[in-house]
Amino acid sequence: MVFTSPLPDVVIPDLSVYDYLFGGIAEHDLDRVALIDGPSGAETSYRALIGQIGAIAGALAARGISPGEVVALHSPNVPAFAAVFHGILRAGATATTVNALYTAEEIAGQLRGSGARLLFTVSPLLEQAVAAADLAGLGADQIIVLDGSPGHASLRDLLAAGHPAPTVSIDPATHLAVLPFSSGTTGHPKGVMLTHRNLVANVAQSLPLLGAKPDDRVLAVLPFFHIYGMTVLLNIALAGRAGLVTMPRFDLTDFLRFIQGYAATYVFIAPPIAVALAKHPLVDDYDLSSVHTIFSGAASLNHTLGAAVAARLDCRVRQGYGMSEMSPVSHAIPLDRDDIPLDSVGLTLPNIECKLIDPNTGEEIHQPAEGTSEAGELLCRGPNIMLGYLGNEEATGETLDADGFLHTGDIATVSSEGYVTIVDRLKELIKYKGYQVAPAELEALLLGHPSIYDAAVIGVPDEHGEEVPKAFVVLQPGVELTAEAVIAFVAGQVAPHKKVRKVEFVDRIPKSASGKILRKDLRAAEALQVAAA
Ligand code: AMP
Repeated sequence: MVFTSPLPDVVIPDLSVYDYLFGGIAEHDLDRVALIDGPSGAETSYRALIGQIGAIAGALAARGISPGEVVALHSPNVPAFAAVFHGILRAGATATTVNALYTAEEIAGQLRGSGARLLFTVSPLLEQAVAAADLAGLGADQIIVLDGSPGHASLRDLLAAGHPAPTVSIDPATHLAVLPFSSGTTGHPKGVMLTHRNLVANVAQSLPLLGAKPDDRVLAVLPFFHIYGMTVLLNIALAGRAGLVTMPRFDLTDFLRFIQGYAATYVFIAPPIAVALAKHPLVDDYDLSSVHTIFSGAASLNHTLGAAVAARLDCRVRQGYGMSEMSPVSHAIPLDRDDIPLDSVGLTLPNIECKLIDPNTGEEIHQPAEGTSEAGELLCRGPNIMLGYLGNEEATGETLDADGFLHTGDIATVSSEGYVTIVDRLKELIKYKGYQVAPAELEALLLGHPSIYDAAVIGVPDEHGEEVPKAFVVLQPGVELTAEAVIAFVAGQVAPHKKVRKVEFVDRIPKSASGKILRKDLRAAEALQVAAA
């Protein structure tokens, strides 16, 4: 049985992202502050941002970037990110945003996987960027350093060249706007093909619930390179004509200082920040009374934790749910709904249809007339759902079914009122502090160690209840290896969030007849161990 949003459908304009967000901007909004660089306080107005977007689009066209080509953006949150991101889209090119903490090999993997022709980076990340470009076959002239570095073009060069924005024809339904990387339900990270229509739709669907407004000061601590920051900050907050205060990296003192100093009103976070807000003594040293809403997403927020944040800050706390493949938001607790339980992810967004299916039998689970349904895998269909994975029909076919429903790999329930609660995860993906960790990627690295015969990785709760990657390792006969050595071996090759944080040596990895790792068995054994401890 399909269940839909209790909210009325919204109109999804048939426009490119640029035309939708900035095409019809009102004269009185042009001089509003769009971006504030948190560390320096430097401000960029909507007028200046739109000018920069046009100039960057023009510079990209002048460099020979044609519509449909891919440009990589590898930067922490700085105001220029917004201009470059929208400049790429305005040129008709596709932006692939790269995690700022990635190693050279990880960046190179994304450059190759996306077919990027140009790489934007910043000087503190230049070493990794140059090494990655080299591995992926890009030359020094294909690296643009936003804040400048000898031997590379800078953002200032691009803006100074004064090329007019090109006229490009974009069919919103088919033209790729962005290619974020996600491992989806299984395997290695893949390029998620999101069109202009996908991104426009997700803003139109989310704005009525999330309601960012011109008098909002939104703290942009979530990384713009991840789909959550990209859509809720760069698209939804800017569509609402709010002002974004950019933070290049999370640091609790800066975070609290910026909220107080810039009188932030609306703060989007992932659950680990909620832990700090609920428990850290530093919080008492700052005046956070400007905040009207803390909105958490990217991983599950515990009700007690959310309630503690609401009580301590005397503000609303809301939760949303989404996935890169859904642009990303599909569920959220609306700002004006104090009655929806905080451990639910709220209502299905307008224009989205959902189903729950029994993961064992594939049978549909019904939304009850009263109470809450059985748990099942959540399927979603709507205008925000990706076209598929770039160059990977097999993974696309496993994720999008013939009826156009996306299989999220998450287990959920739905109540008679339409409240959806995520209760478990079916897919192998691990989320560490809201960031994706693909077990297949870590397993491949572990198998590269000469002393390791076989390995499997799953997510397990640490002592604070946070999900962390744990490796089960089978050693080659007769060799010795410590857990610390395994952890260090992986840590040397991956971004910090992908580190293996626990290791258990085992005699064999449980596998199916076809050789697939039986993660369910590993999880069950782990749960037994935890219960016995
Ligand atoms: P990503 O594509 O990186 O945004 O990761 C998407 C995945 O994060 C989802 O499929 C869920 O497993 C998880 N996720 C996101 N938001 C929530 C939430 N509010 N509660 C539980 N899991 C979540």
